[in-house]
Formats: sequence, C-alpha cells, structure tokens
Amino acid sequence: MKHKVLENAVRDLKEKKNNSKDRYMKPLNVDLLERITQRLIEFSDNCDECTNFITDLTDLLNDIIYKQEPLDKKDFMRFQSKLKVITQHMEKEHNLLPDGHYISMYLPLGISFGLIFGLILFDNISMGLPLGVAFGLIIGSSMDADAKKKGKTI
Ligand SMILES: [Zn+2]
Repeated sequence: MKHKVLENAVRDLKEKKNNSKDRYMKPLNVDLLERITQRLIEFSDNCDECTNFITDLTDLLNDIIYKQEPLDKKDFMRFQSKLKVITQHMEKEHNLLPDGHYISMYLPLGISFGLIFGLILFDNISMGLPLGVAFGLIIGSSMDADAKKKGKTI
C-alpha cells in the first residue's frame, strides 16, 4: 500500500521535472531516486528503517510536487541529503555499492600509478598520466559493470 504511494510520487515528480524549467528541478537525480525506490520496496519487508524511509521520502516528494512556487536551493538540498542518507543506509546495512563506486576508487589509483611509472619509465611525469587514466577507467568500469550484473549496486 505504502509502496504504491511512493511509486506514484516518483512518477509525478518525474512528470513535473520534465515539464519544468526550474533551476533546481533539472539537477534532481530521478534515476537514482527510481533505483532507491525499488530497493526500499525490496527491503521494507525486513527492515524498519527502509519502511520509515518510504514514508519520509513520500512526504518529501509530495512537498516538491505540490509546491506552487519554483523550487529553491533549500528544497534541492533537502532532496539531496535524503537520498544521501538512504544511500548510506543501503551501503551499510544492505551491503550495496553506489553506482560508479569502483571507478571513483580506481581512477585516482590509476592516475597515481601512471604518474609514478611515467617518471620511472619515461622520465616524464605527464607521459604516464593518460595511461593511468585509461587503466583506472578500464578496471573501474568493468568492476562496476560486474557489480551491477550481480545486483550489488543501488
Ligand atoms: Zn534498510
């Protein structure tokens, strides 16, 4: 019952976003919101916190949907921080990874190794940089794709 209300709110928000030119409406991450919604519904049978998040999130979305004036920065921040809190809960309690987790891990790693190898092999720190970026992206994105395939990402 609660699930349907949240799903409807997500749908209405998406529609409002598509028809809106509000400055703070455009950057709302609806894709992430949809993924989070599916996860909350999936976990709510066995997790009280997820059940509470469903209520919280529904209220927040309805505030945005029924607001007559354009969204302001405060609404936007409220939306962002709620998604963040829920994401953190999913990572901690349900062992999920945020999308792009491995890229954000391997890209900086690739860059630092690239710089070191550039210095050692070519005696030129900038030669290693593109290599490092390429390796970081290749490894990170393939691990992300793998985690996604196994259903481990939010
Ligand atoms: Zn939960």
